[in-house]
Amino acid sequence: MTNMKITLLTGKTFDIAKEAGFKLDVVVSKQARKLSLRIDAKRRIPVLTIPRFCSKRQAVAFVQGQKPWIDFHLSRLPYQKNFADGDKISFNGIDFEIKHCAELRGGVQIKDGKILVSGDKEFLSRRVRDFIKEQAQKILYERSVEKAIKLGKKVNRVVIKDTTSRWGSCSSLQNINYNWRIMLAPSKVIDYLVAHEVSHLAHQDHSEAFWECVNSLAEDMMFGRNWLKKHGSELNEYV
Ligand SMILES: [Zn+2]
Repeated sequence: MTNMKITLLTGKTFDIAKEAGFKLDVVVSKQARKLSLRIDAKRRIPVLTIPRFCSKRQAVAFVQGQKPWIDFHLSRLPYQKNFADGDKISFNGIDFEIKHCAELRGGVQIKDGKILVSGDKEFLSRRVRDFIKEQAQKILYERSVEKAIKLGKKVNRVVIKDTTSRWGSCSSLQNINYNWRIMLAPSKVIDYLVAHEVSHLAHQDHSEAFWECVNSLAEDMMFGRNWLKKHGSELNEYV
């Protein structure tokens, strides 16, 4: 359970975050023996665990003393990018501008070089991401099947993943997984990744024969490989 305020034995509440002067989550734990801090990386916020019987003064002094540690660890969290109104992005190899359209009905639409996003602006980034993921499934399935046919292979399923640790994978059951962010790369790069994963239907390793296969399926293998090495991490900043 997370609460910002501590109810004291006297019945008064005390806001540790306010007293400390920065954003902070406070967890009161029956098990905890001492004050401890951790960083919630996903929410980008420090979390203070305090034992049940601990004075507020002690807790505040503790977090204030740990401020350099907190700042250091917050600053080391990977940079995260959101989609915003007016952003220009490449989607499936085509340039689009993201446009917030509060009055639009029905989620997300592509029109005249724009990705129109309805609803509350607060949810714009999530809507764009969900739209890209949904489209990615169809587009990457089609692009994979098209290449697999050339190898006389079958694609069982294409699954869109959120992991940033890899761009794609291919299982022995002919299932191919893709990181949705590849849709933000130039078309030739998407083409290379599809060629790479589809080639794993024929070669489970990264042998010379595998790379020859990728080269035969891809429009420009070296361009795709180099582009991903150079710019891949930028795409993975999108959350
Ligand atoms: Zn591979």
